[in-house]
Amino acid sequence: MNDIEVRQYFQERIDRLLAHYASSRNKYETIWSFYRNQMPQCIANCTNEGKKYSPEQSIDGPQGIYWIGSHPKILFVGREHFGWYGPTQWEADRVSICCSPLEFAFFTVSSMGAYWAIIKELTQEVLALGLGDWDAVLEKVAFTNACKCLADSGTLQWFLHQGCSNSGYLRHEIKTVAAPLSVLFTKSYNLSGTIFAEDTTKLMESDDFCVLRMGEQVLIECAHPGRQSIEWRARLKGIMAQYLDGAEPEREPDA
Ligand SMILES: [Zn+2]
Repeated sequence: MNDIEVRQYFQERIDRLLAHYASSRNKYETIWSFYRNQMPQCIANCTNEGKKYSPEQSIDGPQGIYWIGSHPKILFVGREHFGWYGPTQWEADRVSICCSPLEFAFFTVSSMGAYWAIIKELTQEVLALGLGDWDAVLEKVAFTNACKCLADSGTLQWFLHQGCSNSGYLRHEIKTVAAPLSVLFTKSYNLSGTIFAEDTTKLMESDDFCVLRMGEQVLIECAHPGRQSIEWRARLKGIMAQYLDGAEPEREPDA
């Protein structure tokens, strides 16, 4: 590969990224305008929470929504986020908070390691997509985090989660992305029993999985998939497939 070929390769990827972005632009704009309302206070509150915990503690982020495909079937909520860009201020870093996460689609996958391998497995099997066509996969998925402000201490992260939950990002993102199915890797925060308890109907609950209906959308809450067994992943795939079918009444019946 010479310089021109490398440059050409990346130019093509940039063109594809911009085409993906254009196809979901309205949803990004809606979410980013919500950030405009909520983030300044959220950053202040979460930073204060961190200072209470430890004076030297700096909060990572906030970070925005990672990705919205043009026709998202599944919104995945929660991923490994440590090692983000460091503390930012909404006023000064608005563009990087909104745009940096988009890089995930092309440049940060390798750092997602085991998590991404599991996401690929879930996406490929539940949506029956070939992974060879990466852009086709990206059209069908969306990614975000429940928590925008991040810490590398689990205890502090739990407090930040309460702060960011109160800002309402996740509910707004689930509704705006409008995927029929959202998979929340947030069981340790029990969002199904707290912020989503009031306006949802419980469809199923077991030790490992809780399934809620919120309007036309289905939410599955479960543990972070990183350290779960093959058997656990098989059960998750079964539940995802079951409720994805149920969530898509317009789908053609099998002939
Ligand atoms: Zn926050």
